[in-house]
Amino acid sequence: MKIICIGRNYTEHAKELNNAVPTEPVFFLKPDTAILKNNSDFYIPDFTSDLHYETEIVLKINRVGKHIDEKFASRYFDEIGIGIDFTARDLQQKAKEKGLPWEIAKAFDYSAPLGEFMHKLELPDVNAINFGLQLNKNWVQTGNTRDMIFSFEKIIAYISKYITLKIGDLIFTGTPAGVGSVKIGDTLEASIEGKNRLTINIK
Ligand code: MG
Repeated sequence: MKIICIGRNYTEHAKELNNAVPTEPVFFLKPDTAILKNNSDFYIPDFTSDLHYETEIVLKINRVGKHIDEKFASRYFDEIGIGIDFTARDLQQKAKEKGLPWEIAKAFDYSAPLGEFMHKLELPDVNAINFGLQLNKNWVQTGNTRDMIFSFEKIIAYISKYITLKIGDLIFTGTPAGVGSVKIGDTLEASIEGKNRLTINIK
């Protein structure tokens, strides 16, 4: 399986990093070795001194698809979860300045902690999912998927023009504003509709 992550999908987040608001989705990949499950501790890697959290709603693909039409794209996922797109912001900044790929900043081991998935029918409105992140019990990110620049359906249609989606693939759908750095001893708690779905202790 593969992990596909959408960048700059919330206007306020694009602005906070001084990025232009995109006219087409921006995506990059993380390998399966990026996954961290079961609320396991996260150890800050020694190659970064500015590790950022980015809290994102995650879709789990449930059927194989290529060139998926936006009208049918909602049939390609049943389960929704929350994850952190951990980013070595210092390495990403250097890569951006040189026009280089982002993988060393985004795709390293355990850079994609994931909470438990839920069926989309458990949500009050799959097109307007409230989610957020607390850092040491203070809210640092709150978002609603209705504010995405590109909807779940648009994302799926776009990615599948280039890459075949397969069962079990995960799509990180972008982070709202409020990203920031973590340090040893911090606790991150991500929630959907006010209910905790993921806790990560930073070591
Ligand atoms: Mg992200």
